[in-house]
Amino acid sequence: MLTIKCAKCKSKLFKYIKKGKGKLWHCWKERIVEDFTVKDGDEVRCTCGQLIGIDQKKWIKLKPHNIIYKGSRER
Ligand SMILES: [Zn+2]
Repeated sequence: MLTIKCAKCKSKLFKYIKKGKGKLWHCWKERIVEDFTVKDGDEVRCTCGQLIGIDQKKWIKLKPHNIIYKGSRER
């Protein structure tokens, strides 16, 4: 389980089940366990206003520089 946070204000954004290795570029919606983000059309934002990603229906394409994450898959 990954906890994904805003790089700006450190608020929690998602709890996410990551499968496989590699960097986190997008979040499959079916693997999001908890969602604390604010939706504005297809934009996904932190409560502080930071843009987190773009909703592309099956997944959210993340802005890698705007998030931090930690959890079992991180080394
Ligand atoms: Zn934030």
